[in-house]
Formats: sequence, C-alpha cells, structure tokens
Amino acid sequence: MTRTVQDWHVAAAKRVVDPRPFIGGAPVDADGPRFQVVDPANGDTLAECPDSGPALVQRAFASARAAAPAWAAASAQVRKAVLLALADRVAAQQEVLALDDSLEVGKPISQALMEVQIAAAILRFYAESADKVQGAVAAQEAGAVGLELLEPYGVVAAIVPWNFPLVNAALKLGPALAAGNAVVLKPSEFAPTSALRLGPLAVEAGLPAGLLNILPGTAVTGAAIAGSVGLDLLSFTGSTATGRKVMAAVAAAGPRPVLLECGGKAPQLFLDEAVDLDSAIPYVAHDAFWNLGQLCVSRSRLIVLESLRDAVVEKLSAHVAQMQVGDPLDPATQFGVLASAAARERIGRLLAKGLGQGARQLAAGSSSIDSGFAPTLVEDAGHATCLSHEELFGPILTVHSAGDTADALRLANDTRYGLAATVWTGRMATGLEVARGLRAGRIKLIAAGAPKTDIGFFLGGQPRGDSGFGVEGGTAGLLSYLSRKSVEIYF
Ligand code: NAD
Repeated sequence: MTRTVQDWHVAAAKRVVDPRPFIGGAPVDADGPRFQVVDPANGDTLAECPDSGPALVQRAFASARAAAPAWAAASAQVRKAVLLALADRVAAQQEVLALDDSLEVGKPISQALMEVQIAAAILRFYAESADKVQGAVAAQEAGAVGLELLEPYGVVAAIVPWNFPLVNAALKLGPALAAGNAVVLKPSEFAPTSALRLGPLAVEAGLPAGLLNILPGTAVTGAAIAGSVGLDLLSFTGSTATGRKVMAAVAAAGPRPVLLECGGKAPQLFLDEAVDLDSAIPYVAHDAFWNLGQLCVSRSRLIVLESLRDAVVEKLSAHVAQMQVGDPLDPATQFGVLASAAARERIGRLLAKGLGQGARQLAAGSSSIDSGFAPTLVEDAGHATCLSHEELFGPILTVHSAGDTADALRLANDTRYGLAATVWTGRMATGLEVARGLRAGRIKLIAAGAPKTDIGFFLGGQPRGDSGFGVEGGTAGLLSYLSRKSVEIYF
C-alpha cells in the first residue's frame, strides 16, 4: 500500500519506542541520566533514552565476552543463515525502521525506506561473504608448511553517527558478526531507535543472546566504551575530532586495534567537454546534496576547467534553484531537514563566514517549511575560504575554476581529508592518471554521462589523511574484522 503524508503522520503519532539498552538478548532497565531525542522538523520530543553509562557498558562487554567463543566456533554457514534471517526481518520491518530514521534525523521518508533495503542488502552481502574469505598458505619447502589463519578478534565495539542510522549500524554489525565476533554497538544519541530495534530482530533471527548488545547513549557512554578494557577491536565512524578522542581512550586502556571512518571534503573534477552536461549536472548535484550533504563522501567541492566553468555554472545554478526542501514525512519530498537545530545554526554561520571571506553565492533552492535549509551553490574562486576547507556536513556545494588538469588535481588534494572523489572525463588515460594522483580512498571515474548504477559499497577503500584508516566495504571490509595468525608446521 502506498502511504500518503497523512498516513505517515498518523503512524508517527502512534509510534512506540522501547529506549532501554539491549544486553544479553533482552532490554534491561536503566536508572540515571537520560537524554531526549528530538524531531528536527518541529522540535518535538520523540523519546527519552537512558544514557547507558559505565556500569551498563561493563555489563554489555561481559555479556559479549561470554557469548563470543561459541559464535567464533560456529561454522560460517551457521553465521550466514542467522544474518540472512536478520536481513529478511529488517526488510520486513521496512516501514517501522524507516519512520524511526525519518523522524529522528529529518530525512525524507522515501529515502529512509530505501535505506532500510540498503541495510538489509549490506547484511546479506556480509552473510554471503562469511564463507568466502580464506587465509593463506606460505611458500612450501620440504618438511615445512606455513599457514595464515583468519580468526575473529572476539568483542568488537562499534560507535556510529546519525546520518544513516540503520545503514551505519548494518555496516558494522554485518562484517563484525559474519566474521564471528560479538558486538557492543552504540548508535548516535540523535537517532538510537532503529538500531535498538535490531536487538529483538536479531534474537528472532536466531542470533544467540549476548552477541549483539546495543547501548543508547551520549558521548559519556561512547567514552566509557572506547576506554573499556573489554574490547578487542574498536570500529568508529564519526567526526575526526571525536575519532582523535576515541583513539586516545583506546590507547590508554589497551592499546587495541582501531578502525576509524571520519570526516571528508570530497572533490568532483570536471576535466573536459566529452561529458554530457545535461545528464551529468543532476548527478553532480545529487552527489553533493543527497541527504542534504550530511554524508561523509559528499562531493562538496566542484573543480571545473576554466573553459567549462560558465556552461557548468549556468546549468548547475538552474538545477539547484529548483530544489525544494519539504516535510520529511511527505512521500514526494526529496530533501528533508538538517538533523538538528544546532546543525542548522552551525552551517548557516559557516556560510555567512565564507561569504564574508570572499565566496559568492550563485544559487539556492527553497524550503516549504520553517526548519528547512535549502541546497546552496557558492563560488570560491581562490579555494581559500572556510567553505572549501571545513567539513560543512550540509547542503553547500562550492565551485572552483582550474587552469588545467594538473591545477585541478592540485586543488582536489588541497585538503586534510581523503575519503572520496569523482573525476568526470571522456579521456580514460587522463582519468586514470588523475585517479592515481588523488589522495582519497573511494574514487568514481565517469567517462560519459551520469552512471545508471552504483557499485559503491561493494568495493573496499581505505581513507587517507584526517579521514581515518581501515577498510570498510566489500569483502576487504570483512577482513577488517578478522585477525591473522600464522602457524608454522615442520614435519
Ligand atoms: P560525532 O563524532 O559527533 O559522533 C559519532 C559517534 O561518536 C556518536 O555515536 C557519538 O555519541 C559518539 N561520541 C561522541 N563523543 C565521543 C567520545 N568522546 N568517545 C566516544 N564516542 C563519542 O559525529 P556525528 O556528528 O554523529 O556524525 C558526523 C560525522 O561523522 C561527520 O564528520 C562525518 O563525516 C562522519 N561520518 C563518516 C563516515 C565515514 O564512513 N567516513 C560515515 C558517516 C559519517
């Protein structure tokens, strides 16, 4: 049944949330401090959650530690079957989970529905990968053979941000559980509900109690997790500033290995006339403004050869001007609201600062609701203002002109981040050379018009610079959750 905007508002009014931490296969009661989850579209309080804190963190790690050995010993086929059953349950709860994410971070309901299917696809991908990664056999000589075995780490702590609440959770749980680890997951305090619902769904799917523990909480709970002696690997996604704190806390308590997926400031390079502008421009805008730019790999700096600048700017300005922000629960809405009033204020302040430093606004969309912040196109000719260098995590795309390909590459790499990039060129040899020169872990090289499909997640890529390290995505992403052990055999 296709739901109308009224249907979604009725469903939102009836929504039931169990905000309790999920430990040892069941929700547990929690006293102490609480935090509010707020609807950014209207400021309403959606839920009051316990800030789990150190005592529950310790309990969650104990539960994970007890459950880990049996799961590590289970065959990959068993783990695969459980994760596939979880993926089916996630997909079947599409409307409930999408409503959680849409309400809590203001994303369009149509997009949130799609993200539930993406989360299910990620879980399926890792379920299917579980029995497809293997260790290695070393070069053999008479009387000797060497084995490299892959083993789960044990207990994985996962801390995730709010921008894709369910997808971020699946990106950690999928590979961590498929590899045979137990997990302690902390979703963002802005959007904990969809992740919390995964607990009961996992039990229904046959995941033994204790393997997935989910702790709602603020930075207090996050810090207690990162500083816990109970973890064997910490997998963090979030800002670079928090990533630094997390690393320090893990080092002080452990040290233990850390995977860090942090911020980005990704460029798109427009290098020649061979690209069909009419199909490319909507894609350029999509990759900058999807999820209102609240995306680590948002391609938020457009670097264009001077000879192409006028044509690109003209078409892009017209495209941006017709973008409209609307009620996130309206199925027709393509752009919802920013995830919090604080984010709106911060991005507005940075835009004003950048314009004060010499950037020039070229175009902006509109909003049908008061809390909206519309997609905005800005030119920063000198690539010098804060808009070109700070991660805005909002719907602002900056345009820059480059003299030639080398100049474009120089501007693209003029950032401390290194997450992603896109190169538009009809000349593959040039494109590959530029891709090799880019300091970024995920690169799209587009030769003709807009791609009709997305390989994205199914390839692993390693962030560079302040964007972090460790591989997420693809089967390489599964290897991130497996430890290597060598066994030398002499006979
Ligand atoms: P954030 O760093 O504020 O928070 C991320 C998580 O860390 C949250 O769960 C938060 O509660 C927790 N946290 C906060 N302080 C902590 C502490 N001292 N110790 C332990 N945990 C703590 O980030 P955010 O605002 O939720 O998300 C936006 C950021 O995430 C952006 O910088 C974005 O680029 C980044 N991000 C990166 C990727 C990626 O794959 N590289 C993906 C999505 C988002």
